[in-house]
Amino acid sequence: MHKGSCLCGAVAYEISGDIKQIIYCHCQRCRKANGSAFNAVSPIPAAQFKIVKGQDTLKAHVYEAGVDRMFCSDCGSPIFSKRKAMPDMVRVRIGTLDTPIDKKVSTHIFVGSKAEWYDICNNAQQFIERAG
Ligand SMILES: [Zn+2]
Ligand SMILES: [Zn+2]
Repeated sequence: MHKGSCLCGAVAYEISGDIKQIIYCHCQRCRKANGSAFNAVSPIPAAQFKIVKGQDTLKAHVYEAGVDRMFCSDCGSPIFSKRKAMPDMVRVRIGTLDTPIDKKVSTHIFVGSKAEWYDICNNAQQFIERAG
């Protein structure tokens, strides 16, 4: 069981089950959405992800049709995204976790568009665009 929340604490969630994969997405959309060099996400089965607080404070930003980027409308923390084409999965922004995990980054995606000021300094596998 893992727990997470936004910066202001209005939104909180729980993940039942393990975090198996940590993906850093270096695409420009993710960099803008997070104001950072990359977006650290974990794909989690939707059935294992539950908003336990602040459902009404959670808002969706739709930049690409079919992708909802859910964020706290009070503090702006990105929490997760979901794709209409993949209703069984959510991609949780794991910088919002409050519980520790023992995994390290497993995959870098969209390294073809990564920030030129950021160097990848680990051996996780890299993909120019999407994985596999
Ligand atoms: Zn918040
Ligand atoms: Zn991305």
